[in-house]
Amino acid sequence: MTHQPRSSFQSPRFAQPATFMRLPHVTDPKGLDVAIVGVPFDGGTSYRPGSRYGPREIRNQSSLIRPYGFFQKVSPFDRLNVADAGDIDAAPVSIEKCYEAVEARIGDIADAGARPIVIGGDHSISLPVLRALAKRHGPVALVQFDAHIDTWDEYFGGKYFHGTPFRRAIEERLVDGRRFVQVGIRGPMFSEDDFDFHREHGITVIDIERVKDRGVAWVVAEIRRIATGPAYMTFDIDGVDPAFAPGTGTPEVGGLTSHEAQRLVRGLGALSLVGGDIVEVSPLYDGPGQITAVLASNLMFEFLCAMACGTTKPK
Ligand code: MN
Ligand code: MN
Repeated sequence: MTHQPRSSFQSPRFAQPATFMRLPHVTDPKGLDVAIVGVPFDGGTSYRPGSRYGPREIRNQSSLIRPYGFFQKVSPFDRLNVADAGDIDAAPVSIEKCYEAVEARIGDIADAGARPIVIGGDHSISLPVLRALAKRHGPVALVQFDAHIDTWDEYFGGKYFHGTPFRRAIEERLVDGRRFVQVGIRGPMFSEDDFDFHREHGITVIDIERVKDRGVAWVVAEIRRIATGPAYMTFDIDGVDPAFAPGTGTPEVGGLTSHEAQRLVRGLGALSLVGGDIVEVSPLYDGPGQITAVLASNLMFEFLCAMACGTTKPK
């Protein structure tokens, strides 16, 4: 493959401007199989802000990651041409303008034949990514790791914020409800009516109690059964317990461990992945050692390995 992470034997891991895993920064998606792209936007946040700083910090904390996926038994950079395509210049003052920029850039990446891995940003940015991908693939299957359902209808009269992207995605027919599974849901809700939309559209919820009671292997089997056809992963870092991932805007206690999160993402290798994102990392609230950004960068690597597993022809 043309692009490889800089050799840590020639350039120290902490040297040079930070890119994801020290990959080359390549803005033209032509010839790429996977494009890493940041969306430093948190204008859809309802509580603590700061995920606009996520892409930079995740890149910074990705410097230590070595290139072989030991548990997935795959070297993603030998199978896929991967580069860091930089950030989308999302307008910080307008969610509509941000959405236009994201949809256009992800569309260009998809048209060039590359699959995007998006670094948020708050969860509102998944919607324009799905708009761009559904235009090319039709309605996609969706695997959402999150404490929150994000299928509420509106907030302060606004239809777009980080609590509504997947209701909009269903309404706009970007996502097929029957191929949509949410994992790790927990925390106090507004009422039992919060799940009316799920029942109406056939969305599967695997709440945190079921994850812990039945185990990761069972959850992975359920994901594989549900998320057939072209599939997108969206990982809200607040799906992980704030003990492991404190650096986020709307923390909910009692979540996934880091290890459970890794194993769940590893389980996606059998899916037909068209892209994914990791969102809601807010470095302002991170713990010592930037543990949330370290975790997010490693989950991105696991996801990249899952994408490489699904690539039948090594190039
Ligand atoms: Mn959440
Ligand atoms: Mn979310």
